[in-house]
Amino acid sequence: MVSESEAQEAISTILEYIEGDGIGREGLLNTPSRVVNSWKEIFAGYRQIPAEVLESTFNAEGYDGIVLLRDIEFHSTCEHHLQPFTGRAHVAYIPVERIVGISKLARIVDLHARRLQNQERITKCIADDLETHLKPLGTAVIIEASHGCMQCRGVKKQNSIMTTSAMRGVFFDKNEARTELMQLIRSAPLSR
Ligand code: ZN
Repeated sequence: MVSESEAQEAISTILEYIEGDGIGREGLLNTPSRVVNSWKEIFAGYRQIPAEVLESTFNAEGYDGIVLLRDIEFHSTCEHHLQPFTGRAHVAYIPVERIVGISKLARIVDLHARRLQNQERITKCIADDLETHLKPLGTAVIIEASHGCMQCRGVKKQNSIMTTSAMRGVFFDKNEARTELMQLIRSAPLSR
């Protein structure tokens, strides 16, 4: 187990590697503690458990249509380059017996985004969690994100968007369900 002060020392070493002799200047003095502190938020997902987020469900009372929370913005960190990647997730399911509070769909996105990640894994894990805890007729997760490691290094593409999707159950089996979902995702927002 690495302590907080050991993590701060490691950041100091990295700063020295980047900055060389300039490490003593005012702006960098508290950078190690600021960085480690910011990680408590950025990597908060490691302290959360899907079963707890999706613990309390409600009777669907016969509702058997699509439940969609779209445009859930998220921030994550690419595990390959430690660069941020940000985007939007659309999360949908069709309940059989149980529905979940809508904010929990946003929380489960954050739980997976706030870790060292790749976009494919976030997409799959959200779908897995909904399947496990809600046992719905179908689950769909679509994520669109732009990646810092593509924008500021390597191929340097500013506007490329990566899209990933996980379709389960009726969204995988039935064209009609997928088509309705895509129409709902693309439909004009009520007011913006
Ligand atoms: Zn990367």
